[in-house]
Amino acid sequence: MANSDASSGTDDVFVWDDTLLTGLDAVDAQHHRLVGLFNALNRAMFHGRALSANEQQAIFDELVAYSRYHFEDEERLMAEAGVDPRHRELHARLHQEFVAQVRSMWDARGHLRQLGDTLMGFLTSWLGLHILGVDQAMARQMARIRAGASPAEAWAQEEDPLDRRVANLLRMVGQLYHVLAAQNQDLLEANARLEQRVRERTAELEAANRRLEAFSRIDGLLGIANRGYFDQRLREEIARHTRQARPLAIVMFDVDHFKRYNDHYGHQAGDACLQAVARALQGEIYRAPDLLARYGGEELVALLVDTDAGGARVVAERAVAAVRALALPHAASPTAPVVTVSAGVGSMVPHAPDDGSRLLRLADAALYAAKRAGRNQAVVAPSEDPDAARPHSL
Ligand code: GH3
Ligand code: MG
Ligand code: MG
Repeated sequence: MANSDASSGTDDVFVWDDTLLTGLDAVDAQHHRLVGLFNALNRAMFHGRALSANEQQAIFDELVAYSRYHFEDEERLMAEAGVDPRHRELHARLHQEFVAQVRSMWDARGHLRQLGDTLMGFLTSWLGLHILGVDQAMARQMARIRAGASPAEAWAQEEDPLDRRVANLLRMVGQLYHVLAAQNQDLLEANARLEQRVRERTAELEAANRRLEAFSRIDGLLGIANRGYFDQRLREEIARHTRQARPLAIVMFDVDHFKRYNDHYGHQAGDACLQAVARALQGEIYRAPDLLARYGGEELVALLVDTDAGGARVVAERAVAAVRALALPHAASPTAPVVTVSAGVGSMVPHAPDDGSRLLRLADAALYAAKRAGRNQAVVAPSEDPDAARPHSL
């Protein structure tokens, strides 16, 4: 019991006083020790070196354990002395209430704005009132029994007119105390319920935010990332690939003769066609860090991390083949009897934030070259110089 020094100090919240003696040596010694534990807890929590939560908990646990030991001891003494059951029942009930109340107050200490006043005020006034009231009444009854009175007589003499006023006063303070403690308990419980509700609401709001954020990244028609999210990811990947000096690739896809498709099959069929194309492309762009996004209209774009021109060409050619393999009829296309896409590949090891737009220009120029070369194919930009990819003759 390292921290339970009962010696008095200037920070004491409870100063021992001889009016608190019961005349029962063992009981008085235990009371004295309890006062010492209260003061030790007060010092541990509110004065001097800041103790860790674990150290404070240890002192509190010791205080509760010692209170229980002391209460059991008193209850045993009363039983042995044959104190009237009416007193013993009241006394034991007060002991139980103390342990329950001090526990709930401790558990709620994070919410108590005046923790020092509340907790220490509770502990000290409870013990003072308890000793001056029931403990001294217990001691008086035990003395009367020793002197030959029956337990009932000893109990009845507590009603002696001389003691009546003080006894009534103590009873009323005790009653007031009981009411306040019950109210305090209600408030703590209401507070805990409120906090729980706030936690639940916060979790709901966070989930709704996550859903909204996901929505704002996704194209409503195609169910893949939108342009805004692509631009953001491109900036991030340019920065990362610049740091790591790794190649980053972009593939631009554009549906061939899509205007004619709409004109021939109708806009709704055009939408369904775009959705099928997006799914087919997504099937080829499956590495977790890669991204397929709708760049705008019937143009889609893939961001391939850590990928050089050769690797990106393989992906782009597979993607073009996957769309062709859908075999969606396109009767109005001069290129093929089915829906096809063209792809333009750009790749570079970026050096500056601005390289994102250079990379896009590279891919765009390559796409343009693929269209000019007959569509339904992938073309890789020949150099990092975007102007070089776009044939000047066209
Ligand atoms: P090219 O082979 O040269 O790419 O010819 P194209 O007809 O595909 O090119 P153009 O850019 O002239 O036409 C694109 C068409 O795509 C025009 C536009 O109405 C259509 N389009 C763009 N977004 C959507 C969409 O969300 N749904 C549908 N149904 N059509 C779209
Ligand atoms: Mg287009
Ligand atoms: Mg097109």
